[in-house]
Amino acid sequence: MSTQQDLYDVTIIGGGPIGLFTAFYSGMREMKTKIIEFLPFLGGKVPYFYPEKIIRDVGGIPHVSGEEFTENLIEQAKTFDPTIILEQQITGMERLDDGTFLLTSSNGDKHYTKTVILATGYGTLQSVKLDLPDAVVFEENNLHYYIRKLQSYAGKQVVISGGGNSAIDWANELEPIADKVTLVYRKSSFTGIESNITKMMNSSVEVLNPYEITELNGGNGQLSSIVIKHVEDGTVKEIKTDSLIVNHGFNIDLGQITDWGMQMNGGSIQVDHTMVTSVPGIFAVGDIANYPGKLNLIAGGFNEGPIAVNHAKLHISPKTELKSIYSTNYEPLLDK
Ligand SMILES: Cc1cc2nc3c(=O)[nH]c(=O)nc-3n(C[C@H](O)[C@H](O)[C@H](O)COP(=O)(O)OP(=O)(O)OC[C@H]3O[C@@H](n4cnc5c(N)ncnc54)[C@H](O)[C@@H]3O)c2cc1C
Repeated sequence: MSTQQDLYDVTIIGGGPIGLFTAFYSGMREMKTKIIEFLPFLGGKVPYFYPEKIIRDVGGIPHVSGEEFTENLIEQAKTFDPTIILEQQITGMERLDDGTFLLTSSNGDKHYTKTVILATGYGTLQSVKLDLPDAVVFEENNLHYYIRKLQSYAGKQVVISGGGNSAIDWANELEPIADKVTLVYRKSSFTGIESNITKMMNSSVEVLNPYEITELNGGNGQLSSIVIKHVEDGTVKEIKTDSLIVNHGFNIDLGQITDWGMQMNGGSIQVDHTMVTSVPGIFAVGDIANYPGKLNLIAGGFNEGPIAVNHAKLHISPKTELKSIYSTNYEPLLDK
């Protein structure tokens, strides 16, 4: 049984860009708001895939790096002090007798809420880990699965493992910053964007293929060298490294959310013009939401959040007036 204290008006599942902006707007509609995010950080795909890329297609922002954009979104999301929970994956949903929802995390935590807004993207993002027994030992220090700040590799000997677009992109971006970049790939040829492959091949990046990593060496959690083996002739080499970046792809998993009884459309959730799913009280916004003409753009998701919030408010209090609230004349924000 929930108490008044732990019952939220809105629980937003997913702390990506759309979940964050939705939380801001939910605060502006004076809804008690909680965000639950699976990753240990907020921002979703933006910090995960492109923290250093320049975003140019959000209205009013000519250009901004993914990192700065994320920082701004987090600051904005915190305007009305929502509860933010990291490192929890929501798996279970139960509609209680009073019409509210009980959400359950994979760690067993329970969250009570009057409405749910799914802002999960295509699901939880998990990098494919290096399949070597001691890889986990070095993860805390210098074995990474994604790049948060290019500059943190300045002057370093960096090895990148992988041959997809992201791995090649990272090699090209790190080449002018790192002391040396080596790319190790297990296949004989690359299939990514040709211009990026050509750029890498014409740069100082040392490309070693077809090789795969067979051994990690180091001490005290610090990786100092790797051993690679030629996939065809079995010859081995040892390479000294300050940092190993592994990009072997990632898994995206919506998990048990697909069993919640909502109408799905391929890998996404069908919503109507109010962003409600086929389960009353559960809304979807951002990449996971599907409707005719849907565009998976951040700018589009920024409109879906307020629509979902306004209808969540209507779901809770059917007599609420459905209106656009402007931040410019919203009283609690005037003196901020
Ligand atoms: C390389 C790349 C470049 C891009 N460039 C642009 C661009 O320039 N402009 C643009 O408009 N768009 C761009 N996009 C698309 C844009 O990033 C997405 O449209 C946007 O991130 C969608 O935001 P979201 O909040 O819906 O989902 P996401 O960003 O995917 O965030 C969803 C979050 O929900 C969390 N989550 C999922 N399931 C659960 C669960 N069960 N419990 C708890 N948490 C959960 C995930 O961990 C994730 O953090 C790009 C995408 C990529 C991959």
